[in-house]
Amino acid sequence: MAIDRIRSDHYRIPLPVVLSDSTHKEITHFELIATRIGTTDGAEGLGYTYTVGYGGGSVHSLLTRDLPDLLLGAEETRIEALWKEMWWRLHWVGRGGSAAFAMAAVDVALWDLMGKRAGLPLWRLLGGADPTVPVYAGGIDLFFTLDALLEQTSGNLDAGFEAIKMKVGRKKLSEDVERVAAMRDYLGDGFALMADANMGWDRPRAIAAARALAPYDLVWLEEPLEPEDVAGYAEVARIGTPVAAGENFHNLQEFSQLIAAGGVHYVEPDLACLGGITAWMKAARMAEAAHLPVTSHGVHDLHVHLMAAVPNASYLERHGFGLERFMENPLLIEKGRAVAPERPGHGVTLNFDALEEYRVS
Ligand SMILES: [Mg+2]
Repeated sequence: MAIDRIRSDHYRIPLPVVLSDSTHKEITHFELIATRIGTTDGAEGLGYTYTVGYGGGSVHSLLTRDLPDLLLGAEETRIEALWKEMWWRLHWVGRGGSAAFAMAAVDVALWDLMGKRAGLPLWRLLGGADPTVPVYAGGIDLFFTLDALLEQTSGNLDAGFEAIKMKVGRKKLSEDVERVAAMRDYLGDGFALMADANMGWDRPRAIAAARALAPYDLVWLEEPLEPEDVAGYAEVARIGTPVAAGENFHNLQEFSQLIAAGGVHYVEPDLACLGGITAWMKAARMAEAAHLPVTSHGVHDLHVHLMAAVPNASYLERHGFGLERFMENPLLIEKGRAVAPERPGHGVTLNFDALEEYRVS
């Protein structure tokens, strides 16, 4: 078959609750860029990526102006070849950045088509390790009051979560320590708790924070530093609490450098900003070869398949943006584990009629 149509739509969607972290401060909207790719036999694949509120126009522009002629007429099953062609077409403005987001939307649509054609859910097509994956609730809650943080936590416990992540990176380290201590006290010893600094610290601050938070038995401390500080990551990783990183990596070389430097324990690629499923699977294999677990960031309805496919999965993130209100079959969570669906492809269908009111272009 061959690709005979491609359509990309850009939406800006308000969040039900204003979210907060150390990098973005308050987050009021996110952007969704969805790409539908059809083939000559009438099949259609759906891909999508997202932003934290800005930059989606550049992603949409690449998808509508720069990539369609490369894709139209191509065999949709030659995903590696198309991925590389997209990479080189956009590399001058890419090697990551917006190009990686645009490539992700296309790549996911192609894998969706592949799964539908094979009659297999992606988690089986990509390896089929275990359809149930431990899942955590990812709080985006840095500026929540302590009461609001605990109230959110209570809701997550009621919803059956057995692992929770909170934000750190407030102005005073003592406030972070106080909030983590309160969460540990509320959740009890042994409950899986992670903390995420969203790159909010410089190296001395990150070292001080890793030392101060060490007594609270965190599963991991996430993004203590900006991704470029590879030596700093290696230093923080030696302090004791395992380190997670990867959501701000937009190409595979960034993963290979940090892994080689011993700067990460939980490898955390986000397919939506890394160029899609093709690249995510490679990051997961790099982690496996280095004896490291992989976790995920964002777009949990897609990542559940990838985490279920690989043997070194740790925790899937249930991300706070949530597209549930636009989906027919939102992520199923049972007894603290996310369940990868059996529907062919990724099995996600978006309600484009409901999205219409949020259209940008
Ligand atoms: Mg994070």
